[in-house]
Amino acid sequence: MNKDVSIFNFSINRIISGNQSVIDQARIRLLYYGFFIVFIAVGGLLTSVYLQHQNFLTITAAVVFVTIIFLFKYLTYRPEWKKISHALLILTALFNISNTYVVMQNVDIITVQVILLAILFSFYMLGQGWGLFYSLAYLVPILVFLVLEYNGNYSIEFRPEKIDQATIIISLFSNFIIIIFIHSHFYNAFFNTINQLKETAQEHIELNLKLGDAIKKAEKSSQVKSEFLSNISHEIRTPLNAVIGMSNLMLMSSPRPDQKEDLSVLKFSANNLLSIVNDVLDFNKIESGHLVFEKVRFNLVDLMQNVCGGQIIKAEDKGVVFDLLVDPLLTNKVLIGDPTRINQIIYNLVSNATKFTSQGKISVKALVNEDRHNYLTVNFIVKDTGIGIEPANLISIFEPFTQEATSYTRQHGGTGLGLAIVKKLLELLGSHLQVSSTVGVGSEFAFVMEFPVSTETVVDTTKKRLISQKNDGSDALRILIAEDNPVNVLLMKKLLAKWNIVPAIAENGERAIEILQYGNFDIILMDLQMPIMDGFEAAAEIRKLADPKKSAIPIIALTASALTDIREQVFGAGMNDCVLKPFKPEELMEKINNQVLAVS
Ligand code: ADP
Repeated sequence: MNKDVSIFNFSINRIISGNQSVIDQARIRLLYYGFFIVFIAVGGLLTSVYLQHQNFLTITAAVVFVTIIFLFKYLTYRPEWKKISHALLILTALFNISNTYVVMQNVDIITVQVILLAILFSFYMLGQGWGLFYSLAYLVPILVFLVLEYNGNYSIEFRPEKIDQATIIISLFSNFIIIIFIHSHFYNAFFNTINQLKETAQEHIELNLKLGDAIKKAEKSSQVKSEFLSNISHEIRTPLNAVIGMSNLMLMSSPRPDQKEDLSVLKFSANNLLSIVNDVLDFNKIESGHLVFEKVRFNLVDLMQNVCGGQIIKAEDKGVVFDLLVDPLLTNKVLIGDPTRINQIIYNLVSNATKFTSQGKISVKALVNEDRHNYLTVNFIVKDTGIGIEPANLISIFEPFTQEATSYTRQHGGTGLGLAIVKKLLELLGSHLQVSSTVGVGSEFAFVMEFPVSTETVVDTTKKRLISQKNDGSDALRILIAEDNPVNVLLMKKLLAKWNIVPAIAENGERAIEILQYGNFDIILMDLQMPIMDGFEAAAEIRKLADPKKSAIPIIALTASALTDIREQVFGAGMNDCVLKPFKPEELMEKINNQVLAVS
């Protein structure tokens, strides 16, 4: 708007720009072209009064003529249309008042036209506020004059001018032309604006449609990606199940020391591959917002000991001291939360500490910060004296698939997903991971989490009849396995045999229901993908059985599927728990025991 324009340039293009609104552009155009019309009209009047030898009017018309030229130049020099409009309105008001009170001493049709013109012009150019102001400024003096004249109170020492017919005609017509010009100009601007709005609305509709399509495509491709990952992981997990299961079985059957070493390498590699697959799947699940947190009872002391157990051995093998301190206040407390995810968080932090520390000490603490009624706030701290992290990398290590670019990191493999998963999980659980680290000195990761506390205390399971390494077979659990894959059947049989359990096998869901009806079982391990009748359908049918003992039998789903909502589907079909293949023997044992305990 304040763009300076050369003094010799009269072009309208220099004072109009796309940055101005359509209405403002219309206003500038109105002034610009309006000046031409006024210029011609005043030029005509000037000639007319000059030819009639009306000296006073000639001087007045000449002054108006020059003023108009000046204002026009000002407009093309600096397009300050507001200032110019005010100037025009003020000058015309003074002209109109002096014309009425002094020159003509009369209110004629030209005066009325000028008032109308000023009202139109002020509203269009300056908006409602100024429009009202100038309307009153033009009307009130003329009304006062009419009242004074009506009462016969108006007389001054100046002889009114007489205007000839030609001047009146020129004035009348030029005023009408200006009024028509203002109207037609704004009518056009108004319609252009409406059309532009229509076009914009249409563009918005089209854009929204495109956006909708793009969102659908993005959702579809993210769904396809999730499904692809789930399917591929299912395909990877199934053979891995056999590899890990078989190596577990062989390790359990007292192998020769050299075989034991080979088997341990095999098991380690398979577990490593499994944890990579799991990390990728977990990250995918968290990213796609499909993660649902469990709210189950658990004991934090047990959880911390389980997570750290393996890591303590690893650390001590390297000569690193491992200190685990769990607040004694947590000993008999049953907390409510998602132990699997808390396990995952602590495991990632502790295994990193073990991975990146070759001397000194690792200390893991779970300390009660606050013990309010029914709520415990626990402060978790994992501290090491390892290689430390460069200050510049303290943010990037939380990015997925990012590792510090050190040879030490590369040497230790990993996916670079651990911390990204921890960070996201904590965010979803309403907590925040804090990290401080000094290169060569060590790192500290800490977070705080609040848990509701259950009123019960930790259950003592030692006296119940459960599966364990020591079962002699006399009080063995009666397990029915529904599984179609012969490798998995063999694996399960061998595994259960270690606990002196001989399971019954059904090769599909339909067969499982049949066997259940004439046999007595304590629990069913149900594969989900089977021919004839799958695990979901079979579980739903079992829940409908007439015999209440049979319909309430605990069912644990066994699946290699990594579908994000598999747990919900399993629970939805009436099953009690879910074990993802490949599983650790202890994990299966724990889940079976939990279910058996729940019914006994
Ligand atoms: P990964 O362990 O699979 O490489 P993470 O996301 O768990 O992936 O860790 C990312 C990176 O952060 C690691 O590669 C390492 O460079 C750095 N890091 C994490 N924890 C520690 C630690 N305790 N000490 C030193 N560096 C660490």
